[in-house]
Amino acid sequence: MKPKEGLLVVLSSPSGGGKTTLCNRLMAADANVVRSISCTTRPARGAEVEGHDYYFLTRDDFEKRVARGEFLEHAQVHGHYYGTLRKTVEELLAAGRDALLNIDVQGAAIVCQLAKADPRLRHALVSVFLMPPSLQLLEQRLRRRGTDDEATIARRLAEATREMAHWREYDYVIVTGPIEEDYRQMQAIVDAERCRSQRLSFETE
Ligand code: 5GP
Repeated sequence: MKPKEGLLVVLSSPSGGGKTTLCNRLMAADANVVRSISCTTRPARGAEVEGHDYYFLTRDDFEKRVARGEFLEHAQVHGHYYGTLRKTVEELLAAGRDALLNIDVQGAAIVCQLAKADPRLRHALVSVFLMPPSLQLLEQRLRRRGTDDEATIARRLAEATREMAHWREYDYVIVTGPIEEDYRQMQAIVDAERCRSQRLSFETE
């Protein structure tokens, strides 16, 4: 007995909410989980690597891909484009891998909307919102990360407030705490979703 197709795990949280660390922890512990690598027009930050963290595109290239319908979803976040390639998600799901989409609340809303009309997406979709316990803690985390200047931190905090208002639109909410506890909850969600009877196929079928 095994799942027919992979899960499409949509994970959102305000910047600095601990998404990247959680994704990495989940992938390290669970070989079936693969992060879908997004495209973005924002410049690479710190030690980010092309094709590993993001595909870094020019605005022109991004817009051409939008026109060609290459994105499952795309949105503007902090003045830059971000998008999930349709092909990436389709290939992961067809291979039975669990695709992890680390995307913002606009992108998540688009995927949920698409899933209403697409049985395959609807079947695969699991959405999780990582809720920082407070704005003060989020601010501390952004500062500790040390990659953003004051103006960027202020803008990210204002956006975080708007994003946090969307938590009810997700299937699950994890109020973030120590990484091991966040990870435990996230793995529990993934394990439970894999066990849903509608997702399983039997060798006798
Ligand atoms: P960052 O620039 O900090 O890596 O990401 C900024 C925001 O963009 C985060 O909320 C992140 O989840 C979101 N994001 C990253 N990739 C995508 C994507 O492909 N689509 C959408 N809609 N948002 C994304």
